Amino acid sequence: MGIERINSRIADIQSRMIAMQTQQAGRNVQAQSAKSATGAEGGSFASALESAVAQTGAGKTYTLNSKGIPTELAAYGNGKIPANALEQVGNTRHKLWAPAAESLNRMINDAKREGVTIGITDSYRPYEEQVDLARRKGLYSQGGLAAKPGTSEHGWGMATDLDLNSKAQAWIRANGEKYGFSENVPREPWHWEYKPPTA
Ligand SMILES: [Zn+2]
Repeated sequence: MGIERINSRIADIQSRMIAMQTQQAGRNVQAQSAKSATGAEGGSFASALESAVAQTGAGKTYTLNSKGIPTELAAYGNGKIPANALEQVGNTRHKLWAPAAESLNRMINDAKREGVTIGITDSYRPYEEQVDLARRKGLYSQGGLAAKPGTSEHGWGMATDLDLNSKAQAWIRANGEKYGFSENVPREPWHWEYKPPTA
């Protein structure tokens, strides 16, 4: 990262802090006029600051279609997500829809700080790869291990297959929801699907 980028990042964080301090001042006035101000406000300010700094695009929400797919993804089509809507997971070769990748990266880093290692074995699966997988592993409907091409959750860039030891499996079952990830396929404890925040 160049020094200009670091400086602009610092300026960005400083301006967010000033904005939040301004909001905080407003809240303190309200709190004092309602009840007595307590330390609780300080805690919420600290956590608001932490999440604002940690999350780019914080607070953005998405509209889902009737199948639970964000409308902006549904418009591209399953397995047809353009490269500029995808983002890399850590320094791996894996990519997911950008909001899912950002949330997964945050989860992996938070787990790491607690001594838990989350690996990744699969991610976004373009349509051609879904066709290939179905040919090699057979369709679920015929007792195989692959979704019908064009219907895989991996084709939306919202599902990931993780490499989890027992400690990591327990950690993600306890914490995954905070990052928008849920375990939603029976008998596939490695498969975790991202649900974006909705309005
Ligand atoms: Zn999967």
